[in-house]
Amino acid sequence: MNYVSTRGGIEPMSFKDTVMSGLAADGGLLLPDEIPDVSDRLADWQKLTYRELATEIIALYSSISSKDAAALVHRSYSAFSEPEVVRMVAVGDLQILELFHGPTLSFKDIALQFLGNLFEALVEERGGELNIVVATSGDTGSAAIHGVRGRENMRIFVLHPHGRVSPSQRRQMTTVSNENVFNVAIDGTFDDCQGIVKSIFTDLPFKTRYSLGAVNSINWARILAQIVYYFFAAFRTMESTGLEGARFVVPTGNFGDIFAGYLARKMGLPVTRLVLATNENDILSRFFESGTYALGEVHTTISPSMDIQVASNFERYLYYRLNGDPAAVGRAMAQFRDSGSMTVERQAGEPVDEWISSGSADTQQTLEVIRSTYKDHGYLLDPHSAVGVHVALSLEGAGEPTICLATAHPAKFSESIGRAVGSKVARHEMLDRLTDMPEQFTVLPSSLVAVRGWIEESLSAG
Ligand SMILES: *Cc1c(COP(=O)(O)O)cnc(C)c1O
Repeated sequence: MNYVSTRGGIEPMSFKDTVMSGLAADGGLLLPDEIPDVSDRLADWQKLTYRELATEIIALYSSISSKDAAALVHRSYSAFSEPEVVRMVAVGDLQILELFHGPTLSFKDIALQFLGNLFEALVEERGGELNIVVATSGDTGSAAIHGVRGRENMRIFVLHPHGRVSPSQRRQMTTVSNENVFNVAIDGTFDDCQGIVKSIFTDLPFKTRYSLGAVNSINWARILAQIVYYFFAAFRTMESTGLEGARFVVPTGNFGDIFAGYLARKMGLPVTRLVLATNENDILSRFFESGTYALGEVHTTISPSMDIQVASNFERYLYYRLNGDPAAVGRAMAQFRDSGSMTVERQAGEPVDEWISSGSADTQQTLEVIRSTYKDHGYLLDPHSAVGVHVALSLEGAGEPTICLATAHPAKFSESIGRAVGSKVARHEMLDRLTDMPEQFTVLPSSLVAVRGWIEESLSAG
């Protein structure tokens, strides 16, 4: 399978080149040139373990043999505490899909453990080295660091918004002492960090000179690894309900996670609906209600990994929404860049997307659903997952099987959980261990020049 750009300006690329380059050279995002229809394999796939299913899906989208894919998958998920990688828990009428049983306790481990192993295999195969640059709103950074720490010929540079990630999230990054890990706190928002990383990657001479690689959710391999749990969870839910299909509620920031669900649906998985859930940063839920994608202000919330205005994966969705027309994608993105807003056309009375609906939860509603879920079911939701559950509880069609993605362990956000339920109940020994460990990070202004200089300096020192 080959990969093409959403802007149409490059020759088709191999899977391996796609993973290594992250962003397309024309500034677009990379997508497979076709989405395989697996409808006739669903009955067979239903019998597979999580790891077997991951192996099938990865082999389908790549040039990696099934044997090598299986080895990568086994290495990637060996550090997970659940035998089937993810876990499903019934909470009232909802199915909670716990995706946070990896080494840094967020769903991002599922993709980033895989990507770390994949990068290592590719660097070994091709020789040379790889320097990863990544922006994080909290969870990506630690998951990426844990995917890359200690690996040979690889370094990782992580930008997080200073003071805007939770203390636990920060410590999960800044207490890692491997020599190939570099943390920087940017005086700005996550969008500032992401903007700097995007500029670094569009500077091709710089990117080539320093062998830069991307692990933000613009990297196709991350989306790929996330497709797997939509299949796995839908299968388990279809078994337990005897019904054909399920809907998914997805706490959303950069649109990577829900986009994986969108592809699973395109592949033939009977997903009845994808429900996008946002916090006060609701550019995406407003889009799916109105058809207009319009920049607002960034709000700092208790679900910081969703404090995002410009969703980096949205362009991938837009490509399909605009019928795979790269010129139309280019025009829409240019319009958004120049005016802060763009609108997709639709027939009067038609939804913006027949598969995707949306909703949002503010801080009060998020705290309330954490409190009521704990009181009624004894189950603790982290604030991101709680945004999804709030939206799920407001959906019509009570009998429809509903899977809510739980994207982080509540202990990562113990301060907010404490606010909701009145005591420090959300703990995890892995996080407790970090509280007294020394932290290492550099503070820089929100400036491309400063960050570029810091990367160059760190590389020449090492
Ligand atoms: C990253 C993250 C999200 C948002 O996922 P996207 O793929 O960016 O939409 C939601 N919850 C948690 C806990 C996260 O870390």
